[in-house]
Amino acid sequence: MPTIFSKIVAGEIPADIVYKDDQVTAFKDINPIAPVHILIVPNKEIATANDIAPSDEQLIGHMFVAAKQIAAEQGIAESGYRLIINCRDDGGQEVYHLHLHLIGGRKLGPMLSKRD
Ligand code: 5GP
Repeated sequence: MPTIFSKIVAGEIPADIVYKDDQVTAFKDINPIAPVHILIVPNKEIATANDIAPSDEQLIGHMFVAAKQIAAEQGIAESGYRLIINCRDDGGQEVYHLHLHLIGGRKLGPMLSKRD
């Protein structure tokens, strides 16, 4: 099923795009949790981390190469940042089109709260 992210990749709905190439599109999260919050999305539809195929290995690596390049462009390479992929319900995934969160620009604290 196409998601809102497929429509952003296709240019059918607007987003604040910071990087695009033939494999990935990166745009600012509409509801940022830190001064820098960017989503790096494969241009092809992959629903969740569970749906990554062996043939996607290069693409997944490319998402990380794009992420570190964008981090440098955003000025957070030295201060540091967090890269997160949420998977399905317990992982807190809301949009079922694989995406890598690039989050930084402030101290992010512990990775997880101990309890909800
Ligand atoms: P998830 O919870 O699936 O890992 O993250 C989905 C992210 O997408 C959320 O951080 C949410 O704020 C963001 N998001 C949802 N809809 C849109 C949208 O239409 N545009 C943009 N730029 N971000 C969105």
